[in-house]
Amino acid sequence: MKQKYVIAFDQGTTSTRSIIFDNKGKVVAISQKELTQHYPQSGWVEHDPEEIYKDQLETFNNVLTESGISPEEVEGIGITNQRETTVVWNKETGNPIHNAIVWLDKRTIDICKDLEEKGLTNYVRKNTGLVIDSYFSGTKLKWILDNVEGARELAKKDKLCFGTIDSWLIYKFTNGKRHVTDHTNASRTMIFNIKTLSWDKKLLKALDIPASILPEVQPSSSDFGAIEYKGVKIPIYGVAGDQQASLFGQGGFEAGVAKNTYGTGCFILLNTGEKRVKSKKGLLTTLICSLENEPVNYALEGSVFAGGASIQWLRDKMKLIDKASETETICESIPPLKNVYVVPAFAGLGAPHWDGEARGSVYGMTLDTGREELIKATVNALAYQTKDVMRAMEKDSGENIFTLKVDGGASANNYLMQFQSDLLNIEVDRPKMIEVTAFGAALLAGIKAGVWSKYDINDIRQVDTIFFPKMDEDLRKSNYKGWKKAIKRTKRN
Ligand code: ADP
Repeated sequence: MKQKYVIAFDQGTTSTRSIIFDNKGKVVAISQKELTQHYPQSGWVEHDPEEIYKDQLETFNNVLTESGISPEEVEGIGITNQRETTVVWNKETGNPIHNAIVWLDKRTIDICKDLEEKGLTNYVRKNTGLVIDSYFSGTKLKWILDNVEGARELAKKDKLCFGTIDSWLIYKFTNGKRHVTDHTNASRTMIFNIKTLSWDKKLLKALDIPASILPEVQPSSSDFGAIEYKGVKIPIYGVAGDQQASLFGQGGFEAGVAKNTYGTGCFILLNTGEKRVKSKKGLLTTLICSLENEPVNYALEGSVFAGGASIQWLRDKMKLIDKASETETICESIPPLKNVYVVPAFAGLGAPHWDGEARGSVYGMTLDTGREELIKATVNALAYQTKDVMRAMEKDSGENIFTLKVDGGASANNYLMQFQSDLLNIEVDRPKMIEVTAFGAALLAGIKAGVWSKYDINDIRQVDTIFFPKMDEDLRKSNYKGWKKAIKRTKRN
């Protein structure tokens, strides 16, 4: 039988990659380029969209050349991308009119305040599932239209396109033939209505965004156009924002499945099925990967700002470790901590505490507290913060979560995964395949191409380790009680 392959484009905040998967979901080839970060002012972060396209094209060429796989053997391409990052380009020239404004960029805080003053807080929550924040694309798009000379005139003449990175890449790779995006990316713009599944007229008006510049929104697994490579047309059959792609790659297409990606930050998503849960705890409601001819489903999303970033802090600022991976043996080398807590609120506290003024703190130190204890308390904080988010998810959704699927750099830490399982009192399931996000995008493309059905995911996704809870109930409770006390003392609001 002819071997079939699917390629994932994984366009992240710091790197751009192409990965070839075979039809058993095995990685055959990877090519990666680092992405230049531009910081034109304090709080501003930009990327060059042309560099992103160039790097994507180069890594795509590299994986095909290095693997010797011919374009005819590639059944489809799936794109997963950094979410919310905003590009505006000229329809006629295909050139961006400004650098991409990255999700981290804070320049639109005043536009957000203005929306709040217009009384739109509840409306945004109910109709987009999001909170008014500069994080999302809508206000970034308005900023470009308002601040780039001539942009408003070009928009009036229907000569501009807006897109998140997926749209931009598709536009370039199809030579301007397709201006499209998928449900997951659209749901992060703050101008997409997740109830009606269409661009929200009221919010477009409030932000003065003309509907003509918006992409068409399609299911995540559908036909997004084709890339012509050496005379062969390779279809783009999958598109999803990174966190939703990872949920899908973890087999999270059923209600009740939760995943956590332990990267620089931690991103936790719980599939709530057709239930669109409106959070009372400050979590976001978002669309998950959609398949053709199936209803669009929802997730609750919460994030922890300081995940792996606090391990980097131990390494780079405190100089307590040389490598992040050292933390595992150090944590295992000392007995369980008694009432020592690090609350890594370096950039405030996110869901469900929401306190931007809070700052990092250490509690419960005695003369016995040394380097190892401080390291262990910092690692433990990733698990405690995850528990806070998951408890909020359970309360909001009324569901009990039974398993947490994990990925991301810090999920390699066995101590952390065991402690996470102990603290949550549920199974923590780590797959063998660590490229879950790219795999999710490949799956979306492979499903449309007929290589897989969604039910194949759980066969392809092989378990590496399942961590079962072992901690005594009293200890679990008293540990968590201590953490809650530490949070209470850290909060300023
Ligand atoms: P991102 O995609 O956000 O760059 P990654 O998924 O590559 O993040 O994960 C890297 C993060 O995980 C870093 O912040 C690093 O400090 C942390 N990390 C990596 N390995 C470990 C480990 N074994 N234990 C704890 N933290 C780790």
